[in-house]
Amino acid sequence: GVRPLIAGNWKMNGTLREAAALAEGVRAGLDRVTGADLLLCPPFLHLHVAAASMGWKPVGIGGQDCSAEANGAHTGDVSAAMLADAGCGYVILGHSERRADHGETDGLVQAKARAAIEAGLIPIVCVGETEAQRDAGEAEAVVAAQLAGSLPPDFASARGVVAYEPVWAIGTGRTPTEADITAMHGRMRAELAARFPGQGETTRLLYGGSVKPSNAQAILALPNVDGALVGGASLKADDFLAIGAAV
Ligand code: 13P
Repeated sequence: GVRPLIAGNWKMNGTLREAAALAEGVRAGLDRVTGADLLLCPPFLHLHVAAASMGWKPVGIGGQDCSAEANGAHTGDVSAAMLADAGCGYVILGHSERRADHGETDGLVQAKARAAIEAGLIPIVCVGETEAQRDAGEAEAVVAAQLAGSLPPDFASARGVVAYEPVWAIGTGRTPTEADITAMHGRMRAELAARFPGQGETTRLLYGGSVKPSNAQAILALPNVDGALVGGASLKADDFLAIGAAV
């Protein structure tokens, strides 16, 4: 099957010194992880020091967002090409925190994914329902609509990654049941295979939301779960490596 990807989303945490130490801690324990690719996604200002700590390889480096525009008069924004130039191979797009904090729509996320692919980055597009949507029985329909709206036509051929992150499971210690994760990832696989025949079958589908060393093995063993997008537990090298070793 697909080689799993364990991605750490550091979100807006830490100092330069802490970023260097965290990357160094991951590098020092890399021999514990044999069955998965690892990816670190630090804040923009910490990308360079994290990449340098890793010796730029073999762990991937990714941004947490990028502009939909290529360059120019867009104060405060960071382009996909800038991320690539700083050593990134990936960029997280459409995280629920950006959809909530910055009003990012499916259309904007799709435009950002196009820009990322154009710059040679692999986009990791995040989708996921709120608790109210799940309680209303709408979770699969919400996620299917997010996929339809957020993924550009060349997403699968560019090896794009999808991360399913139920909003109510992020940072809460709560996770969906194994049956619910299996059902959602099966639905996402079907949507991708239908839209991208011959390629969507092998698109990496990550699960994110309160993944930690104690639940990683069970979650990563589920069908159509090709890795994890890890928030809080990725801020401790030991925990992140333990999740990587659980594949
Ligand atoms: P937690 O692992 O802290 O729940 O965060 C998940 C997440 O949002 C990763 O992008």
